[in-house]
Order: sequence, then structure tokens, then C-alpha cells
Amino acid sequence: MKAKFKTTCPECKAEISVGAEISKTSSGKWVHKHCAPESSELP
Ligand SMILES: [Zn+2]
Repeated sequence: MKAKFKTTCPECKAEISVGAEISKTSSGKWVHKHCAPESSELP
């Protein structure tokens, strides 16, 4: 999904800007889509 708020990615510590593609981890944290564990998304 797309970010609705500007936040910081706990995985890479970089900023997640509004409208960026993000994913929720199993621990409930929002990270960049490319920072999320592969298991969260099927091929
Ligand atoms: Zn990230």
C-alpha cells in the first residue's frame, strides 16, 4: 500500500515519504516495500 504519513523506516533508517510503497512487517512496523521480508509478499 502507499504511505499516508511521512515516517521513518525501521529497517534502513531512511525516510518514508507520503505516497511511497510500504509494507507492514509481522511485528506491525511499516517499512519500505523493498525493506519488508520476502515472506510478506508472494511472487
Ligand atoms: Zn527502508
